[in-house]
Amino acid sequence: MTESPTYSDVVAAAERIGSEVHRTPLLTSRLVDSETGARVFFKAENLQRAGSFKIRGALNALSLLDADQRAAGVVAYSSGNHAQAIALAAAILKIPVVVVMPTDAPATKLAATQAYGASVITYDRYTEDRERIGAELAEDKGMALIPPYDHPHVIAGQGTAVKELLEDTGPLDMVFVPLGGGGLLSGSLLSTKALAPDCAVYGVEPEAGDDGRRSLRTGTIVHIDTPVTIADGTQTQHLGEHTFPIIKRDVEDIVTAADTELVEAMALFAARMKIVVEPSGCLGLAALLGTAVRDPGAVAGRRIGVVISGGNVDLGRMAQLLASRSR
Ligand SMILES: *Cc1c(COP(=O)(O)O)cnc(C)c1O
Repeated sequence: MTESPTYSDVVAAAERIGSEVHRTPLLTSRLVDSETGARVFFKAENLQRAGSFKIRGALNALSLLDADQRAAGVVAYSSGNHAQAIALAAAILKIPVVVVMPTDAPATKLAATQAYGASVITYDRYTEDRERIGAELAEDKGMALIPPYDHPHVIAGQGTAVKELLEDTGPLDMVFVPLGGGGLLSGSLLSTKALAPDCAVYGVEPEAGDDGRRSLRTGTIVHIDTPVTIADGTQTQHLGEHTFPIIKRDVEDIVTAADTELVEAMALFAARMKIVVEPSGCLGLAALLGTAVRDPGAVAGRRIGVVISGGNVDLGRMAQLLASRSR
């Protein structure tokens, strides 16, 4: 458990979860290719089960629990995609699951988590500590606590998305990956360094929460307050003990995208590619388009992968964001 995952763990994860998760399609856009001068391949994890890549890590981690742990059940705390993924993975494996969510979590997310069969316990995010509630449940009932990113089995599961991408595209020159706590990025790095060692992988985080970039610059994990950004899937406060060493070793760089750039990318996805992408899922495209403007030579003529990490956005919220555009 404390060992650092390797590409062989990603390969094992792919075999373990392959029959239950979608091999999501690759999408391309002539508009994006012409605006960047590159050949761009999108890995559409917005079309994944439960709407994001998170089912990959959740299902891998839950599959690796032993019989006693499965009988005791699992607990997760999250208001977002991890909660839904854990709930679905637990339903697939018939493991009891408790999800600890804030009382003010969006009703749709609460309902979706319950619809997968999870018990939901709510807490007041201003007066109660979810980590303590989760830890107490784990302690009292012997339930396994599955964290959203900082776990070797979660990292190995998340790595299967870029493994599929590279298997389907052949060698790429660059890959852009959304970055929160780094489960997706570290897993993507394991796959890329094994399948396309010369490919440069970029982590992309919201501008308001650039702790990852600062961690890379300083060499130690930087902690920040919860960043104010529309990218709710990447509102993390720090990288993980398991994710950071892999990122530090293998990432080319960590770049950022502003909320306004995320909305532009969301509009392009909707209008041109006809897909619904949540703000965090727009990070990769936003960074690619930003790079193409600032430094066209860096991307022109290259073969580039972009991970679309998820598509769970309330439609009213999406309409509001799109209406807020100034042009
Ligand atoms: C969780 C999530 C991320 C960030 O993943 P990490 O493994 O925490 O870096 C990015 N996008 C979406 C849609 C997510 O749900």
